[in-house]
Amino acid sequence: MNTPLKKLAIIVPAYNESKNIIPFYKAVCNITDELTNYQWNLLFVNDGSTDDTWIKIKELAEKDHNVKGINLSRNFGKEIALTAGAEAIEDTEAVILMDADLQHPPSLIPKLIQQWESGYQIVATQRTAIEYSWLRELGSRAFYYLMRLMSDINLEAKTTDYRLLDKKVLNILKTFEEKTRFFRGLIDWMGFRKTYVNFSAPERNDGDSTFKLRDLTKLAINSLTSFSLMPLRITGYLGVFVLISTSLLMIYMILTQLFMNQLYTALAYFVVFNTFLFGIVLAAIGMLALYIGHIHTEVVRRPLYIIQEQVGFDGSESGAEQLND
Ligand code: UDP
Ligand code: MG
Repeated sequence: MNTPLKKLAIIVPAYNESKNIIPFYKAVCNITDELTNYQWNLLFVNDGSTDDTWIKIKELAEKDHNVKGINLSRNFGKEIALTAGAEAIEDTEAVILMDADLQHPPSLIPKLIQQWESGYQIVATQRTAIEYSWLRELGSRAFYYLMRLMSDINLEAKTTDYRLLDKKVLNILKTFEEKTRFFRGLIDWMGFRKTYVNFSAPERNDGDSTFKLRDLTKLAINSLTSFSLMPLRITGYLGVFVLISTSLLMIYMILTQLFMNQLYTALAYFVVFNTFLFGIVLAAIGMLALYIGHIHTEVVRRPLYIIQEQVGFDGSESGAEQLND
């Protein structure tokens, strides 16, 4: 009486990971071979590597029919590579996203599966050990702080892209059309039943991290601006503050000049009036933020809401799947 095996997939973005592909594959197989209730697929997305990463992936795919590969035409960046992988996977109960450099230990997979089997739809991981430079660590902390302050998603600090996503989450993620994307942010925006597993990240297996501070800064700015218009709004608030304070100052100056014979130079009036004009400009930028906000929500075409479950509808188990029809 054999129950059919549940299908699971692992998506691995790889950029110049030639030396890591085989060790990664072996380490993953060591773990997945033990998890015999599942049928595993391993999907590598070669993100325009300049070394022979793709050749390694092809060799593996020839030997092992559970290994699949996608070769992107150039380097598009990790977020897009992950998207390409997610879109290519069909017919799976859940996916696990992980890095190719073994910084996301495969030994955690059974734990992720266990949490998923117990009902969580997103199992994210959080690193406990610090394996990055203090500068990057500082930047990362500042980023999470700003993100929590400015946007309406609650991004936990130190979470990584090493995640398990239930197929419901994956299917909805596939409907997202926004171009500038921050995978983790989107996933956190979606809600669902979510839990965290801690791990201490080891050093990279081979090679150096390809993320330069510049890329990370760009990613951080993109994430902030795609989830929040707060920076523009702050300008607006500042404008209103300047407008009110200079108006009051101007009234004060005129009144004291008229009734208390206080004398002000023309320059004083000019400076105050000029600041008042600045206030108008800043406030106008704040107004623009409101309009841009509307345009932004329209163009990214994120789903308005996501239905977790529904009951009593004929033949439909969940809204999520309907969305994907
Ligand atoms: N990666 C990618 N495209 C890129 C940069 C990185 O697909 O343009 C992959 C890389 O091969 C690795 C993962 O993303 O599997 C994380 O990259 P890395 O280890 O350089 O980043 P870090 O661990 O420093 O965050
Ligand atoms: Mg890494």
